[in-house]
Amino acid sequence: MTQAKLIDGKAFAENLRGRVAAKVAKLQDAHGVTPGLAVVLVGEDPASQVYVRNKGKQTVECGMHSFEHKLDASTSEADLLAVVEKLNADDAVHGILVQLPLPDHIDEAKVINAITPDKDVDGFHVINSGRLMTGQEAMVPCTPLGCLMLIKDTLGEDLSGKRAIVVGRSNIVGKPMAQLLLDANCTVTIAHSRTQDLPGECRRADILVAAVGRPEMIKGDWIKPGACVIDVGINRIPAPEKGEGKTRLVGDVDFAGAEQVAGSITPVPGGVGPMTIAVLLANTVTACCRSLGVAEPEA
Ligand code: NDP
Repeated sequence: MTQAKLIDGKAFAENLRGRVAAKVAKLQDAHGVTPGLAVVLVGEDPASQVYVRNKGKQTVECGMHSFEHKLDASTSEADLLAVVEKLNADDAVHGILVQLPLPDHIDEAKVINAITPDKDVDGFHVINSGRLMTGQEAMVPCTPLGCLMLIKDTLGEDLSGKRAIVVGRSNIVGKPMAQLLLDANCTVTIAHSRTQDLPGECRRADILVAAVGRPEMIKGDWIKPGACVIDVGINRIPAPEKGEGKTRLVGDVDFAGAEQVAGSITPVPGGVGPMTIAVLLANTVTACCRSLGVAEPEA
């Protein structure tokens, strides 16, 4: 039995943040500009509050400006759109992120599509989806871009001809992930809840990306020996072994079974999770450079 190589997303993300900080310093030196990221939070969702706090902290640690806009849960759609418009017009703001989910009375797509596409560092604007789909310069969604970085770091830059499967077809993870793998010349299968013989589809893949949201659904015997397994899922399950009422995080892949078969695998936590904010910061630097019309500094 083999033991898969552990893909350390935490270490990769730390290194990426270091490279972002170096680029920020060079931009300041060469152009006197500090990249700025604005995060808008509507309401008091506890998980969203934690994300926003972490984003703000890591933005500042990289030497960038962080602008936080915390709005009441009762904020109207019109008022939120007015905040987005102000940020669109603000030259100190190079990236805008509206934290999802938004309260039910607000149309998420309308708000996301009100962000200037070039400042849409989450890459969720329909223009950026279209640009990604048609091979044009886009802002690329952070989680799938982070997954691609981990895959290339593990398997090498050239993924040509590899069979890849993406399990999940959401707009924020599954679809852009599949597009990125296609752009990297993989032969890509997109699987979802209606896919027939999912284990059989998975067993053919050299690269398996799981973005489902179902704890430990993908079993070890679904995995092709030696495959690269990227587990995007973050699921909280009861952990009675840790004590009454305790919980733990698991991915969409049954890690214990999969690591016996895979060539490489991301753990949960510590795999894909830490990549998302690091890529968000990298996207903000990219957006800043594009707005200045300058090449991104080397780091
Ligand atoms: P969605 O709920 O939007 O999409 C889930 C996808 O999984 C859907 O396409 C669905 O298919 C598919 N699916 C559901 N059940 C099955 C099944 N039994 N067999 C095959 N496919 C199935 O989730 P997201 O893409 O937003 O997120 C997926 C996971 O990734 C979650 O655990 C989430 O927490 C995590 N996540 C982690 C991030 C990070 O690490 N930073 C960022 C974003 C997400 P269908 O379309 O047919 O319904």
